Amino acid sequence: METIQREQTEVLNPYEIVKRQIDTAAAKLQLPEHVTELLKRPKRVLSVSFPVRMDDGSVRIFEGYRSQHNDAVGPTKGGIRFHPDVTIDEVKALSMWMTFKCGVVGLPYGGGKGGVIVDPRTLSKGELERLSRAFMEAIADIVGPERDIPAPDVYTTPQIMGWMMDTFSRLRGHNSPGVITGKPIIIGGSQGRNAATAQGCVYAIQSALEDIKLPIEKAKVAVQGFGNAGRIAARLLTDLGATVVAVSDSRGGVYDANGLDLDRVEQLKDEATILDYGASYHISNEQLLELDVDILIPAALENVITQENAPRVKARIIAEAANGPTTPEADAILNKNGTIVIPDILANAGGVTVSYFEWVQNLMNYYWSEEEVLEKLQVNMVKSYNAVRDLAKEYGTDLRTAAYMISLQRVTEAMRARGWV
Ligand code: NAD
Repeated sequence: METIQREQTEVLNPYEIVKRQIDTAAAKLQLPEHVTELLKRPKRVLSVSFPVRMDDGSVRIFEGYRSQHNDAVGPTKGGIRFHPDVTIDEVKALSMWMTFKCGVVGLPYGGGKGGVIVDPRTLSKGELERLSRAFMEAIADIVGPERDIPAPDVYTTPQIMGWMMDTFSRLRGHNSPGVITGKPIIIGGSQGRNAATAQGCVYAIQSALEDIKLPIEKAKVAVQGFGNAGRIAARLLTDLGATVVAVSDSRGGVYDANGLDLDRVEQLKDEATILDYGASYHISNEQLLELDVDILIPAALENVITQENAPRVKARIIAEAANGPTTPEADAILNKNGTIVIPDILANAGGVTVSYFEWVQNLMNYYWSEEEVLEKLQVNMVKSYNAVRDLAKEYGTDLRTAAYMISLQRVTEAMRARGWV
């Protein structure tokens, strides 16, 4: 995974943002205050410190967290992040977002998230393995296939998931692949997981294009971020006939109004940098967001569309492959301008959906082909997009609020059925 240079952006406190998003949707649903207050707090947050032996024989103490937001609908689910900027508030907020993401696409999960304060680029492979195994040991009492199922996130990889699954299985004394998703395929990973986020995002975009009656062959696309989500989305849209006019990564972007030669961009990215496409094609990441395109896919960082640049955004559809790319103030401006914003909890839910499929396959010990996985993903994404779009129409609101309303409603119903509220 590439560097996500979060340090470059001033990140709004995600915990405050998610609480505001809950309030907006809860007001529409007229939820009682005690329900809203419960939803604003994680059920359980575990804070751990653990020692790791370094290659030079010294011992370093690391800190990490696991937050389980709400398990009314089912076991909690969400990634583990290794990053020097991890904070307990961030992990809590991300676990809350996971509840709403699982809710909007109808997965039988609540939200969880974990993180360790570490810059994994400073560790050797052996140190990284010992750290990964030690963190899993530290949280093993509260995770498990029926309790809380982690997955990869920033700076954590299928290999790390493999080590963690192995540690958990050793502690339990039997093979337990369903404890974690995003594993290498040979030990229970799912076909289709690598492209799942981008693929899910593209299914949602196709539905939105149908709504505005724009054939995909006529659509111009700009993609910010050329990693797992952005690069694969650009490829899939090109293969469907769309014209990708701009892409960027952390160093900047390239733009050709007539369409980029995506094969060449991919090759340049693998060899060195997309900027080798040619100096006359260069644009900045800020310019990319304001291009005259039909579809804009922010697939890199948080808070890139702000109240400052939102009035200049021309895209008719914004598909939030990244988590939290639009600030609440920018959201209001985009909604006023009639931009269709497919919210992150829906647009990038393909990843957790295929993680769910991985867990189901692990529990059955029976594995699907890539075609089967993608077909099930498509059915679920299109169904979820349509439900959000229809509710937004019914309430005269935006897609984000409607997505939250569906999630909140679902979690609230489950809490009522259990007699919690
Ligand atoms: P990645 O590390 O594979 O790619 C990130 C890309 O962003 C890279 O191309 C990097 O160069 C680029 N980037 C970094 N700083 C940038 C900057 N300042 N301006 C422009 N581009 C910059 O990460 P990813 O997995 O593709 O994740 C991207 C976003 O999608 C994140 O917000 C992530 O939370 C979200 N997301 C990913 C998944 C998934 O399954 N991969 C699932 C849900 C959400």
